[in-house]
Amino acid sequence: MNKPIHILDSSIEFLKGVGPTKGDMLKKELGIFTFGDLLLHFPYRYVDKTQFHKIRSIGPDSDTVQLRGILRRLNSVGDGRKKRLVGTFRDDTGAIELIWFKGAYWLERSLVVGQEYIVYGRINSFKGKINIAHPEIEPAGVKNTSQASTFEPVYPSTEKLNGKNLDAKGQRKLTKVLLEKLQPEDIPENLPDYLLEKFRFPSRYEALKGIHFPKTQQELDQVRNRLKFEELFFLQLRLLQIRRRRKDAIKGFSFTMIGEHFNRFFNEKLKFELTGAQKRVLKEIRRDLGSGVQMNRLLQGDVGSGKTIVGLMSMLMAMDNGYQATLLAPTEILAQQHYQSITENVEGLGIEVGFLSGSVKGKKRKILLEALVEGKIHILIGTHAILEDPVQFKNLGLAITDEQHRFGVAQRARLWKKSKTFPPHILVMTATPIPRTLAMTLYGDLEVSVIDELPPGRKEVKTIHRTENHRLRVIGFMKEEIAKGRQVYVVFPLIEESETLDLKNLDQGYENLLRDFPMPDYQISIVHGRMKPADKDFEMQRFVKGETQIMVATTVIEVGVNVPNASVMIIENTERFGLSQLHQLRGRVGRGAEQSYCILMSSFKLSKEARERIQTMTSTNNGFEIAEADLKLRGPGNIEGTQQSGLINFKIADIAKDGRILQTAREVAARILDNDPKLEKPIHQRLQLWLSKNTKQYKIWSMIS
Ligand code: ADP
Ligand code: MG
Repeated sequence: MNKPIHILDSSIEFLKGVGPTKGDMLKKELGIFTFGDLLLHFPYRYVDKTQFHKIRSIGPDSDTVQLRGILRRLNSVGDGRKKRLVGTFRDDTGAIELIWFKGAYWLERSLVVGQEYIVYGRINSFKGKINIAHPEIEPAGVKNTSQASTFEPVYPSTEKLNGKNLDAKGQRKLTKVLLEKLQPEDIPENLPDYLLEKFRFPSRYEALKGIHFPKTQQELDQVRNRLKFEELFFLQLRLLQIRRRRKDAIKGFSFTMIGEHFNRFFNEKLKFELTGAQKRVLKEIRRDLGSGVQMNRLLQGDVGSGKTIVGLMSMLMAMDNGYQATLLAPTEILAQQHYQSITENVEGLGIEVGFLSGSVKGKKRKILLEALVEGKIHILIGTHAILEDPVQFKNLGLAITDEQHRFGVAQRARLWKKSKTFPPHILVMTATPIPRTLAMTLYGDLEVSVIDELPPGRKEVKTIHRTENHRLRVIGFMKEEIAKGRQVYVVFPLIEESETLDLKNLDQGYENLLRDFPMPDYQISIVHGRMKPADKDFEMQRFVKGETQIMVATTVIEVGVNVPNASVMIIENTERFGLSQLHQLRGRVGRGAEQSYCILMSSFKLSKEARERIQTMTSTNNGFEIAEADLKLRGPGNIEGTQQSGLINFKIADIAKDGRILQTAREVAARILDNDPKLEKPIHQRLQLWLSKNTKQYKIWSMIS
């Protein structure tokens, strides 16, 4: 016997009005396979048919309008293929032309001149004349005004769908048919009653009906709120559950000792006072490391906020407890810079620091790997090369990755396997601040630490926007700064899609600079992604050592390089960079005691979005504010590191805008799990049921670091 299937699981072609052809189309174009999928295919906007416009108030910029008036004239114009039907429609304020190119024959016979109609459509303006092509038109008598007051849902459509009568109107019809079939018991509630009461939420049944056919704006707001909450709440519930389970299941090394390495470094080597934020974060890390549970912590801190020292001191805690530590950086240059500074920092403390990257080969590599597995190397610094299987530690206790978003999720998971007993503690450091809302979603199962304070004495980088006609003055300014002994970065955009053209631009820019800054008075380095690592490194080192005054580069310098004497950052074609990239680049200057400058060069004409990006850059130095602005401008899907997660493909919630709902959802979820960790209590039965039915939807994220 066949198991009776739930109505929402019925195949879409069995819905009245669909059938096999349209069914196929819905599957292919919209991923709608079942009645349930159609129910969850939400409108992306609504047409407000509660309002009528007056013809006099319509201008060329008007969008869609609804009019009530009398059809005054109706004529066929032209013949053959060019034949069209033209009407004149008048209300008490003016007249407007209506045009139909198709269906004229039928309309000419059904429309009656002199009768009152309701017309709905999009305003076209053509050579200063305004009309509506293919308006919806129906006799005003059919629906009286109060009945006509509805919000009509508009669904995403495609050319192919339109061709099969599955445009917004066609989809609307199907949704209506479906909703008429569904009884309240077909759409079970998934939130506990006490939450519905607390937030005055409509039931799930009402919400799903209301989201398709709301009667008032107020109803729409209410049902939307409920559905957004529901979506964010279940995700948070899942993420927090994963985090709890991991804490219960995965034990970690317990670093209980603060010993000689840490203390000697602190007393003898540390040249400055730690900032309050650094101290706080170190405490948080220390607590994690000593807890007996594996640490999974994300450390966010603006460029220059001093994350490295926090990372180093965490590694010293591992040493003090007899364990090894490793630090991974996304590029060779950055890894080497870490290697140099950490080697200097721990000099005389009896700590052996190793370096590993793709460029360490042959005998050197062999010796290094042996020393590592024997425990003779205490700290290993390097690139992705560390993740390769032959790289074995004696006892890896802590793994740190710098500039987190450059590492893929899978790569990070490999770090876990580098330790045979417990997984190493993990610290992920990032200088791309992620807005809180996004962090809660993407890293909902990680602990987050924030360094929100720069070391004292830093001068804020002055950011200035200049267009091409200021070029000479900019060159003059560069010369002044170089004369004071400073160094300058000049950065060009380079994206894969237009790489050839971009490299040409870079070459041209380099040529121009050679002309404006002639040798032997000036020396210029150039670095770009197409160069061999060794050449890149050579050029980079010349700049680091101060042998060259100008570094021309593509975005390869974006991450991490530290040249405190560089005080000017010129960014060419600023309009082509994203906000977070610009902020990263700016972070390369302002690292020394001198006043630093970031000059954003752009063409005179700018898109609205580019203008806003530039304005954001000139108005704030705060990475978190910039991240928020970026999220608003580009939407969450474009923020680096988010795409692969799949976690942000929300049906209805928008984490750029729904931060408050998210916050509430997270708090509610946390409280529920505190009281009922396994969701066993009868009042939480619905939650348990819903999660168990929908686990696939919430990708397991527990091994992300
Ligand atoms: P980021 O967070 O961008 O990785 P770094 O760790 O590279 O920043 O630190 C930037 C610079 O600030 C380094 O030269 C570092 O030595 C210095 N620094 C870090 N912490 C402090 C502090 N508390 N006081 C003064 N200088 C500091
Ligand atoms: Mg750094």
